Amino acid sequence: MLSVEEALERLLEGLSPMSSERVPLADALGRVPASRPVAAAHDVPPFANSAMDGFALRVADGGAARRVIGESRAGGPPSPVVEPGTAVRIMTGAPMPVGADSVVPIEDASEFDGSMAVQGSPRPHAHVRDAGHDVAAGTAVALPAGPTTASVIGLLAAMGQAAVEVRRRPRVAILSTGDELVPVGAPLGPGQIHDANGPALAAAVWEAGGEPIILELAGDDPGEIERRVREGAEAADLLIVSGGVSVGEHDHVRAIIERLGALDFWRIAVQPGKPLAFGHVDGRPVIGLPGNPVSALVTFELFVRPMLRRMLGLLGDGRAHVTARIDEEMAKDPARRAYLRVRLCADGAGYRAASAGGQASSQLLPLAFANALLVVPEGLAATVPGDSYEAIVTGAVE
Ligand code: AMP
Ligand code: MG
Repeated sequence: MLSVEEALERLLEGLSPMSSERVPLADALGRVPASRPVAAAHDVPPFANSAMDGFALRVADGGAARRVIGESRAGGPPSPVVEPGTAVRIMTGAPMPVGADSVVPIEDASEFDGSMAVQGSPRPHAHVRDAGHDVAAGTAVALPAGPTTASVIGLLAAMGQAAVEVRRRPRVAILSTGDELVPVGAPLGPGQIHDANGPALAAAVWEAGGEPIILELAGDDPGEIERRVREGAEAADLLIVSGGVSVGEHDHVRAIIERLGALDFWRIAVQPGKPLAFGHVDGRPVIGLPGNPVSALVTFELFVRPMLRRMLGLLGDGRAHVTARIDEEMAKDPARRAYLRVRLCADGAGYRAASAGGQASSQLLPLAFANALLVVPEGLAATVPGDSYEAIVTGAVE
């Protein structure tokens, strides 16, 4: 059996980042910026302005009272020049008047008869935001690695960038196989179940930064699977097949990948999800995941998510890895590394994990409530109450 690391290394080998495309900011959320920095065409902010509502004045010309000769408001007409003995009423974001070097907040001033007086002694440059104090013109701004956030989009907008260069989303074809499957929405006949993997893997692909293409269900008929695999390899950058990859009489996926291209079949020392098929059809990577929904989603998390991230030019799995204590005994296969479905909560300075429910690879309900996978190493037959293990945080932690 391969270790998780060995399998991952082989899966990532030979993957390279997608080409890039320009998208408007409105479509940029979650997209991954292509590495090149964005040049600041102008200062942000473009002009010196006030950080407070108050009075703009020149500190050096002292005086107990200054005549208020006009105002400077954000977006308003140019304000009068500040001469000795005068001040200009100013609003947050309004340009600093020529001649002024400081802002006295309204709270620190008194006003009477068209004049103002400062309480205390104003400091030069107080409450003044210089031109470029956020981003100076000409700076090459390297955007943070990883999916674009609301704040990155805000930064780009402030810089006057209406569009951003991002990695193309890897297109991922998803094929569910099995004679027992019917699409969700259709009624169940005897012995039938709804296809859970198709919708679940499509969502996981979106979450990882890819774009899913859900193929029509294939039964356990080799001809039908072969047609769909060809279709997927043609339409997508990567193809995921779920079900039919193990050694049962009706498991045809491996033979088909082998016939159409090249195949590696691995037993990975991982629980859930031991069998995994990996190959290429028409130069496109094809990965066969186990059919049990929990196995399919956990192996997606461990293997396919890092592949998609690599195709987006990103490293690792993009998850927080923390250490969590568990106070119960959860059984596992000692021969494999287990990824147990747990609920994680913050506990003082650390984290505590509790089983999210049954750990069978067919039980989606506990997986749906889990917010982490607890990584319990090979060699152990169960978690040891009171011990701490690595946890991969997959959802929100309260
Ligand atoms: P298989 O890998 O084809 O041997 O399937 C293993 C188990 O997963 C069986 O109980 C299948 O019914 C179930 N299964 C396979 N594909 C799906 C799917 N797309 N959605 C839900 N369950 C599935
Ligand atoms: Mg099957």
